[in-house]
Amino acid sequence: MSSLISRRSLVFSAATAMTVFGLDGSLEVVEAKQRWRQHQRTPDPKQGFLRFKVGDAEVTALYDGIWEKVHNPAYFSNATVAETKQALAAAGLTTAFVTIPITTYVVKLNGKTVLCDAGGGDQVQAFNPDSVFVSGKMIANMKAAGIDPKDVETILVSHFHPDHIFGLLTKGDNGPVYPNAEIILSAAEHKFWTDPSLTGRLPPGRQPLAKRIQTVVARWKNVLPIEGEDEVVPGIRFVKTPGHTPGHTSFHLSSGKEQLMISGDTAYVPALCAAHPGWHGVFDQDGPLAETSRRKLLDRVVAEKMLVCGSHFPWPGLGRFAKDGGGYALEVQRA
Ligand SMILES: [Zn+2]
Repeated sequence: MSSLISRRSLVFSAATAMTVFGLDGSLEVVEAKQRWRQHQRTPDPKQGFLRFKVGDAEVTALYDGIWEKVHNPAYFSNATVAETKQALAAAGLTTAFVTIPITTYVVKLNGKTVLCDAGGGDQVQAFNPDSVFVSGKMIANMKAAGIDPKDVETILVSHFHPDHIFGLLTKGDNGPVYPNAEIILSAAEHKFWTDPSLTGRLPPGRQPLAKRIQTVVARWKNVLPIEGEDEVVPGIRFVKTPGHTPGHTSFHLSSGKEQLMISGDTAYVPALCAAHPGWHGVFDQDGPLAETSRRKLLDRVVAEKMLVCGSHFPWPGLGRFAKDGGGYALEVQRA
């Protein structure tokens, strides 16, 4: 436990520094945000949405933004920055930073419109002051794809990290972005983050983000926590993939003979975590458990030759995995 806490402190120490300025839109924060945006080095996709079919389901990938994460020796507890750069280069990615795009998915199936995760809502930057972190573009891309946020009936949440949930509330006034949606999520995840004693149990460096997450979650209406691996909407079943967070959940879509595994952050940056499934990331709350879930899910999608989406896979976040030595290689699909 103590090693977990010290790893967590490392991640969120930058967040503490930022909190000194306040998360209130003060001048420093606004100026800093503008600077980050100006320095985004990865171009956005020309079209920020991509539609494809899985059986009768129509799936739309929505580009939400990108985190160009500066290298940090604490990123993996058992891999160096040099090894990280080597793995990025092997996947044909820049080694200047870790490229972490954010993609969310809308599934239309059996007459339902279901959103899988909600992106960062342009509200995550302040917690990552050392990196470019742009988010919140999925709403414009959703509208460009002809989907009205009011038509979203169900939102499935993979886990409560800010790049997946802050987009549920409007920036500034915390209004509901999807006023008519029911939010379905893992009971374990909900219990962990809503426990009133959580903040007090965390090291000071991690408290501001935990507090913000708790504030955000308290404002959600119409929340349905699920204990098991239920079929939460017709055609989509929860798959438990804990470790990254206590209740991290993937979504298995099946229509006719076709399947899609919407894997959230189970193998978040495949060039690193799928190629080296034994690397324990600082954002994996329980590294060994995250590794077990990752291997189990990847073994399954390889065996079943299943199409897989990931929140941080290279845009449009879609591909198939193959066994590659001791790890797994993602073949990105343009659909
Ligand atoms: Zn994430």
